Amino acid sequence: MLSVVGIGPGSLDLMAERARARISSADVIMGNVRYIELIKDVIPASAEVVIGRMGTEVERAKKAVELGQYKDVVLVSGGDAGIYGMAGLAIEVAADSGTKLEIVPGITSASASAALLGAPISNDFAVVSLSDLLVPWREIERKLEGLAKMDIAVVVYNPKSKNRTVQLEKTYGIFMQFRDRKTIVGIVRNAEREGCEIEITRLEDLPAFYRRIDMSTTIIIGCSGTQNLGGRMVTRRGYETKYDYETGNGNADDIAAGYVDAGNRVWEKSKAIVRDIVSKYPGSLSDTEKRVAGRVVFANADPSFLDLLVFNHHPVETGIQCIKEGKTIITDIEMVKAGISKKYRKKVECFVNAPKTMEIAKREGLTRTAAGIRLAKEKGLIQGNVVVIGNAPSACQEICALVEEGDVGVKPALIVATPVGFVNAAEMKEKILSMGNIPCIVIRGPRGGTPSAVAIINELVELSNE
Ligand code: SAH
Repeated sequence: MLSVVGIGPGSLDLMAERARARISSADVIMGNVRYIELIKDVIPASAEVVIGRMGTEVERAKKAVELGQYKDVVLVSGGDAGIYGMAGLAIEVAADSGTKLEIVPGITSASASAALLGAPISNDFAVVSLSDLLVPWREIERKLEGLAKMDIAVVVYNPKSKNRTVQLEKTYGIFMQFRDRKTIVGIVRNAEREGCEIEITRLEDLPAFYRRIDMSTTIIIGCSGTQNLGGRMVTRRGYETKYDYETGNGNADDIAAGYVDAGNRVWEKSKAIVRDIVSKYPGSLSDTEKRVAGRVVFANADPSFLDLLVFNHHPVETGIQCIKEGKTIITDIEMVKAGISKKYRKKVECFVNAPKTMEIAKREGLTRTAAGIRLAKEKGLIQGNVVVIGNAPSACQEICALVEEGDVGVKPALIVATPVGFVNAAEMKEKILSMGNIPCIVIRGPRGGTPSAVAIINELVELSNE
């Protein structure tokens, strides 16, 4: 009989009883030198040991099947023999041979590594090997792209060897393109063996670990539900949305809806779609500009905004700096203010409804939104701050007039202009673009509106927090 036996990750107490029994009673034990070394304490003195080299697997399997006709033969694989191991090959070779064959499962690297990290694959997950010795790289790349777009944990086997290093770099590139760069990633080297190393990091920081990643390393890339809880990597299954951990009771509303998790999944899926769209856009945008542009596409569910967005004079860097420095944001209407992230809203001012604004509007014959901008100027709030016009072309006109008058103290650090409408919106936005060296983000033409303005500012807030 031939037994194809998975010996687990290394430590003998993680080997299955059945595996141990087969090894103890074997006449012949075959495997590569590393696995034989790991199980040497279990090998009976009477057994013949046949050590195979990497690359001679087919030969070894054939020999095992042949000997299996009249002896008890054990063919060992690391982890589980059916996961990138010898089981499949043995079955193929044994077909029609008459040799009795059994497969004995073992603890695979994914579960051994996961347990050392915490519980990173406690929800749906996928396993992929980066080894292109048997599978063409193009095929692996296609799988990686598909998986990166899905919101599930991905376990990576065979990440890097002495001669195969670019595969890991390419994998990193693919995940950075489609996943949140802050995604939690676990790295386990020599799980349950001598020299065991465990690291929990974030996707964007993976390159810092390249040097230590080798053929005895398993990488687990988390998903949106994965967290680092006090040094343990955990992918939440959704219990937290359904149960109160203190009382153990379920929250009836949440059980019915399951909405927190579902909401996260929709959000992550949409973000992946947008990242895909933006990455394929041929225009030349910087990485941070892509983030802002992606947020506008996301807010409107409309990729055509990529053709309309203009970034002049490094406005994203300027915007991030302004937010880091806590600069005031002036908006043309209350709705734009209301949409800005709570994290920054107390720094946002809108004067459209101020009593003084009414006065200015009447006296100067201005619209209320334009008068609101004028009042901001009188309060000294335009200079060095951020002006966001999401709705009213007349507010654009006012900011242009103020800047063009060239008064000291009326130069904003950044203008975001996305007013919407068939009357004057496109013209006023062109005027802002032609206004010299003020950093600005503009959506050309009649389209735009509050959602776009809010999307731009909220992405700047997010970027400034990274
Ligand atoms: N049949 C094995 C996998 C063989 S592929 C199993 O089920 O585990 C070889 C890959 O498995 C390695 O490149 C590495 O990614 C992973 N691996 C094997 N042993 C490991 C260990 N002790 N610690 C971490 N990863 C390991």
